[in-house]
Amino acid sequence: MKINSRGHLEIGGIDVLDLVKDFGTPLWVIDEQGFRQNCRSFKEAFQKMGDALVVYASKALSNTSICRMAAQEGLGLDVVSGGELYTALQAGFPVEKIYFHGNNKSPAEIAMALEAGIGRMVVDNFYELKLLSQICQAKDYTQDILLRITPGVEAHTHEFIKTGQIDSKFGFTLPDGQALKAVQAALDTPGVNLVGLHCHIGSQVFDMGSFRHAGSLMMDFMGEVKQHTGHEFSELDLGGGFGIFYCYGDEPADPVSWAEAVMPTVQEKARELNIPVPRVIVEPGRAICGPAGITLYTIGSSKEIPGIRKYVAIDGGMTDNIRPALYEACYTAIVANKADQDSEEVVSIAGKCCESGDMLIRDVNLPRVAAGDVLAVFATGAYGYTMSSNYNRLPRPAMVLVNEGAADLILRRETYEDILRNDIIPARLKK
Ligand code: PLP
Repeated sequence: MKINSRGHLEIGGIDVLDLVKDFGTPLWVIDEQGFRQNCRSFKEAFQKMGDALVVYASKALSNTSICRMAAQEGLGLDVVSGGELYTALQAGFPVEKIYFHGNNKSPAEIAMALEAGIGRMVVDNFYELKLLSQICQAKDYTQDILLRITPGVEAHTHEFIKTGQIDSKFGFTLPDGQALKAVQAALDTPGVNLVGLHCHIGSQVFDMGSFRHAGSLMMDFMGEVKQHTGHEFSELDLGGGFGIFYCYGDEPADPVSWAEAVMPTVQEKARELNIPVPRVIVEPGRAICGPAGITLYTIGSSKEIPGIRKYVAIDGGMTDNIRPALYEACYTAIVANKADQDSEEVVSIAGKCCESGDMLIRDVNLPRVAAGDVLAVFATGAYGYTMSSNYNRLPRPAMVLVNEGAADLILRRETYEDILRNDIIPARLKK
């Protein structure tokens, strides 16, 4: 990304004003080189230090083109629903590298995963273990599984995105002995082959010590399992959650520090406990697609309350990015057609939805803005599209992939016909 000679923001070698002209706004833009480079950085960092697989968490951004790029970069794929799995299969993702997560997989989703022959089911609870076993036995099939463990690690992040602590809807709790019972149950369960353990301590985590601590606890648990049952694991999946830069104050580490925090810990613990060194799996989502994405909006109305605040409204909002409304996520932005101009005022960016909470950014420094200007919001590649909605019956934006001056549509803009597609008027209402 750079500011070009016209004073406009440029991404993937294209002036964003040209993107706006060709594709309209709101527009999600993904920089292909950025996405691919992020895949490579994680892969290289981990594989340099031992046996490791980087699995892209597709909940952060999933569509067929994105899945294809992750596959081409040699990553595995984390899916959490039939829809994400279907997308991966349609994209031709190598099934043996698909990891299926989720705390309430339906019988249909499990059957679909087995039918496809996916690599790993990450079993979250006793209900799922039994269900999976029944479906496997009925098909005379054995599925490789990991068990999701809740290690009791407090990651330093927002309350709603902490998942490794004890009071969590996910996984088998480690400190109270439930995890050991789950391992024993899995070993006695027909139709499943227990190859590893999984944990995920939260998202937008900056403190590499939290990952190290989780890795250490999980290895200790592998040692405990060996003592009690004799069972040895070949995989340890430490989840995702690697933090990225959104706003001033965010200080992301680099993938090498993540690898350096967990790989030696796992290797040393394995030696100490006299158990095999498991293959380490990590599942970054946000850190791969987040920084590679920007969102372009057209500025419309403004409202100034003297001495209080100036609201500047855009043609999107919580429907294409719910994160600020959901958990006060913070973003930075510039006026793309005035990218070379100095800031002159502090404004707040309001979405167009009928909710007071639909505020995209509170207090951002911008040059003086006018209707028709284009706002570019940074680091929106993750959890924007995948958490989007049709609230207020707003059609979802389009998404383009840019690379070396080329822009390709990878997601069509929804139309009003799309909004109505599933509406049905019963005969009695037609009278
Ligand atoms: N793995 C699991 C099990 C998750 O629950 C999540 C996010 O919720 C991720 C990976 C990806 O997290 P992030 O996008 O923060 O890297």
